[in-house]
Parts: sequence; C-alpha cells; structure tokens
Amino acid sequence: MGLQNRIVHALWIGLFLTSIGCRSTPAVSAGPEPEGLGYGAPGAGHEIVICGERFSVGAPVVLWSDVDGYNAYSTDRHFIDKPKPKNSPEPGTLRYDPGRVSRDGNRTQLVEAGSRNVAQLGDIVDQFVLHYDVCGASQSCFKVLHDHRGLSVHFMLDVDGTLYQTMDLREQGWHATKANTRSVGVEIAHIGGRGKRDLAQMESWYVRDAEGLRIQFPKWLGDGGVRTPGFIGRPLRDFRVEGRVQGEKRYMYDYTPEQYETLVRLSATLCQVFPRMEADAPRDASGVVANRVLGDAEFAAFGGILGHYHVQRNKVDPGVAFDWEPFLGRVRDRIRAYPVR
Ligand SMILES: [Zn+2]
Repeated sequence: MGLQNRIVHALWIGLFLTSIGCRSTPAVSAGPEPEGLGYGAPGAGHEIVICGERFSVGAPVVLWSDVDGYNAYSTDRHFIDKPKPKNSPEPGTLRYDPGRVSRDGNRTQLVEAGSRNVAQLGDIVDQFVLHYDVCGASQSCFKVLHDHRGLSVHFMLDVDGTLYQTMDLREQGWHATKANTRSVGVEIAHIGGRGKRDLAQMESWYVRDAEGLRIQFPKWLGDGGVRTPGFIGRPLRDFRVEGRVQGEKRYMYDYTPEQYETLVRLSATLCQVFPRMEADAPRDASGVVANRVLGDAEFAAFGGILGHYHVQRNKVDPGVAFDWEPFLGRVRDRIRAYPVR
C-alpha cells in the first residue's frame, strides 16, 4: 500500500468511525457538493424534515410550510377556489395518521404524534415506496390525492427534479395500504404506463423536437405548476420502454434525468437515516429486481426501496420504465461519497 493509498485508507476508516459515533446527532451532508445542483428552481431549500430535525439531501426541496408548498396536515382542500369535488372529504378531515400506528385492530401508537426521536422512528420505518402519480405534475397530484381522495404521501417529485415534502416523515401517510406503517412514500410526477390497447392518451403527452423526445402537457394543465421557469422535461431514455409487470406487457416513457438525480439523493439520505432500509430492491431467486407483487413472507422480511407493485397485486407503478439497476447503483455510490454523519 503506497503512502497515498494509506492516507486514503485512514481517511475512510476515520469517516466510518465518525459515521458510527455520531448516529444520534443532527445529520448534515459530509461536505460541500463538488458541483452546483444544476437543476431545480432558485429559492428551493435542500433539506428534508424527520422528527423535527433537518437532514440534507442536496436536491431542491420545498417544504409543506413554505409559501408554495403542499401541506398534508391541512384538513381542508388546497385548491379551495374550486367547487368541492363529489365524494371528497369534509372540511376538518385528517388525511394521515399522526405518528406511526399499528395496522392491527388495536391501532397501537408505535411512534408518538410529535415525536422527536429519529432513532425510534428508524426501528419502525424500513421501506421507501415509489409511485407514479398518473397526473404528470405534482400540483395536480396534490389536488387529486389531498383534495379529492383524502390521501397523503410524504414526498412528491416533480418533472424538474423539485422535491415537495408534504409532512414530517414521522407521520403515517396513506399511500400504500399494508406498507403505510413502516414506509416513506414518494409520488413521482409521470403520466404512467399503459397496455397495448390503451396507448393513445399516453402518446399525446410526448412529442419529438430537434433535440429529441420531450414531455408536452395537455393545454388544460398550463405549466403544471412546475417551479423551474420554461422547464422542458425529456425522458432519460429517448424511446418507449417495454416490459412486464404483474405478468402483463406494459409500455411507458422514462422519467426525467432531474427526477432520477433527486430520487438518488433522497434515497441515499433515507437509507442512512433509517438503518434497516437497504439501498436495494426486492429480487427474485435469479437476482433480478422482482417485477411482481411480493408474497406475505417476502414482504414482511424486506427492508429497502420498492415499487408500489411490490406491495399490491392491483398496482403497476413506478412502471416498466423505472430503471432499477442504474438507479440503485447510483444510490450506493452516493452513500459512499456523502455519508450522513
Ligand atoms: Zn402507487
């Protein structure tokens, strides 16, 4: 081992010991970012909130408490200027469980409402559930989820890479049935995938210009509330992806590079704050990421990053275009490069 290697080796050991020794202290990124963010609208923060503490993700974050944020704590509609949609919750209705609650009939409080104990939350939370919103933009996602359906999810990830946090991660979101107690959820803005007979509406969301494929919102959506002025969203891969999920053939366009970048950074932070959350997805015996719902025992044993379709048989999100292996590789690289102290 040369001198330079030995110094690097010693630094790594030091970093490792530091990361063990300081588990209970407020976490910050290990150091300055080597490059500017390069995306996201000016004015966004870069920290998420867990049990009242701020944790760096190094990506543009808008909190529920920010002026242009989306607040899942609100017991009324966000877009109150519009007529009340049929079957939407009455004013005063909660859309989440404060703290973490067991899903048996007893509804045992596993993490207290208002808890400031990140370590205790880490004993309960070990899954990060990825969804696509079928709305195409986070603004309309919140309208559907919060205003119309009376549901909640911790994060929404818009096409420009802006991450909206709608409530503290200590709260139990209503987004993935049996995974709610033990999970954090994100709705990624995307029109979603379709089966062969159902492609026309999906195709109407994409056009090709001189630079390649890009997302084109329908006219009624306007700019979709996307924070980056004039943002043009392009699928990371410039073609329609085919694949199978839950045993059926599906077609879908990829997520934007800005969405992958933010999701990598967010996942790297979550996997370090929650020690039982592995930077990995459920895999079949052959080693490939499973493209089907998990059995009860598999689901119970799995702590890590998973799709909604791994949780429920009737779901197919985040879809066949979500590129698991490069994503997971980048999450692991990010964890190595920026250990949360
Ligand atoms: Zn979903």
